[in-house]
Order: sequence, then structure tokens, then C-alpha cells
Amino acid sequence: MAKDDRVFVGVDLGATKIMAAAYDAKMRPISTEKMKTPREANAKKVVGALSEAVRLCLEAAGPGLALGGVGVAVPGPLDRAKGIVRYTPNMGFKDYNLGQELENLFGAPAYLDNDVQAGAYGELRAGVLRGKTNAVAVFLGTGIGGGIVIDGKLFRGSSGSAGEVGHMIIHEGGSLCGCGNYGCLEALASRTAMAKDAVALAASGKAPGMLDAAGTDIRKYRSSAFEASLGAGDKYIKKAVDRAAFWLGVGLANIVHILNPEAIVLGGGVVSRFGEKFRDKAVESMNDHLMPGLAGTAEILLSELGDLAVPTGAAFFAAEGVGA
Ligand SMILES: [Zn+2]
Repeated sequence: MAKDDRVFVGVDLGATKIMAAAYDAKMRPISTEKMKTPREANAKKVVGALSEAVRLCLEAAGPGLALGGVGVAVPGPLDRAKGIVRYTPNMGFKDYNLGQELENLFGAPAYLDNDVQAGAYGELRAGVLRGKTNAVAVFLGTGIGGGIVIDGKLFRGSSGSAGEVGHMIIHEGGSLCGCGNYGCLEALASRTAMAKDAVALAASGKAPGMLDAAGTDIRKYRSSAFEASLGAGDKYIKKAVDRAAFWLGVGLANIVHILNPEAIVLGGGVVSRFGEKFRDKAVESMNDHLMPGLAGTAEILLSELGDLAVPTGAAFFAAEGVGA
């Protein structure tokens, strides 16, 4: 196999969907594949779907190409060096040697990584953070995660978990977070946080558009339901979304104070739906909370890669892991 005939596949292994993307030896995107994650918490079935996504992606990439390496981004603690997934919520992995299994399946090196750090790395290598030296990526969805770039490199921290910006406590005594603390950024600015407010508004008759779009089942409060509700003129829902942007701005101010980055990229489902307006509200709040002299030091950018940020980063980890 010639060196240039290699393909690197990066996979975002999420609890609801699996997203794979293939890149050529020069790391240009060639093909993508998306599928639903099996609903049962069964690691074997999840690995089956994951390897199917890699295969389909390779097939779509075209004939005469061989897999040079696969990178998989996982939402949970792992041992990167050994390729072991310690635990994942909802997918049934427990001390699972996914790296070895994928190497056996594909006959190519496999690399595991944390999903949010892979997303930050994708933005750094091929997205809106290209060429930046000090930067932060903040991904907003059902939760909030982050990745930190220092001196042009991903900063992982001493045990690999740097960048948990969603769990900085910014309003002690505020809303309860999934982690058990009160007032984390995630409990105030994630889609889950907005959904908690929105379901209360719908139940009390203050958000008829939302009630029509999603009822009162919080699991249906996806970004599309928010869009429908805002489109129907639900002003209290707008207030709830603006409030999330306000708290995000407080979080961004904290990040700027601590790290003095040149840029912060916002990504994830919430941002791809609410876009610039949401960003602008957050920037307004950030500026209100920054020390004098720091306003304007960090550019607040929107992700260019969208849901390809994570697979892109995972593919780069794989390519660099094998020395491409
Ligand atoms: Zn928390």
C-alpha cells in the first residue's frame, strides 16, 4: 500500500448517534457516515454499529484505499494508552478493551480519546481555531464540555480531564447539576437547563408554541422544539434562552480571566441552532463581567465544523498517532 492511499477514519461515539468521517493522507475530508447508536446498553452491539460506520465510511471513500488508522472519541473516562474504555453512560462499556478489539477487526492502529477534547482538537487542526496559540472550545448540548489549547497544543491536565468548563460553579445555590453540585454552568446554560425552564413554562400555559411542539415531556425538548416555539412567538421561551446565554457569558468571562485566550469557539447542538444571536447575547454578558481592560481580548467564534468537529479531531489523533 502506498503511503498516499491511506485513509484515516475518526468516529464520534455518542449515546444517541455515531458519526464517522474519513480523511485522506493529507487530511482532506472524503466521506461521512451517521447512524443511530443501538438503544440497549450493550457494548457488543455498540461496537458492531461502530465498526459498521467505519466500514461504510471506508467504502464511500472509494476503491484502492486502505485504513491507516482509526480514532474513536468516547464520552466517558478511559485509559488512552491502553485503549480501554473505563465507563460510558448508556452504552454498556465497563473496563472494555475497545482499542484492541478495533485493531483486531480492522488490522490498523486504533486510538481512543475523550470526545470533547477531540472536538477541540478538530477545531484546532481543521476548524475555526486553526493557527491559534491559546484558545478554548466550549460545546453546548445536553451538557457543556470544553477543551483547552495552550501554546498551540491540547492541554489535557494531570489526569487527562482538563476542560470541564461545564462544572465550574458560577452561581452557588443555583440550579442542581447532573454532577450533584448546585449552580454549575451546565445547570444554567445547557439545553437541559433551558428545557427545565421551558417545560415549566409550557405546563403553566406561558409557552403555547412549545406545548404544541413538544408537550410537557422534557425528553422532547430538543433544539428543534425550541426553534418551533420561538417561531410561534413564545416570548417566555425567548427569555429562558436569553437567560442561558447570560449565564454562558458569565462562564466565558471566567474562562477569559483564568486563561486569557485569544479565541473561544462555541460549538454543539445549541449553538448550531441558535447561532449568532445566542453568541451575541453571551458576549454582551461576558463583557459585563470582565475586568476592565479585558473586553475584546478574546474573539468568541462559532464552530465551522459543527458535528464533524469530534470525528475530525479523532481522525487527526489517529493520523498523528501513526506518524502520518
Ligand atoms: Zn456540575
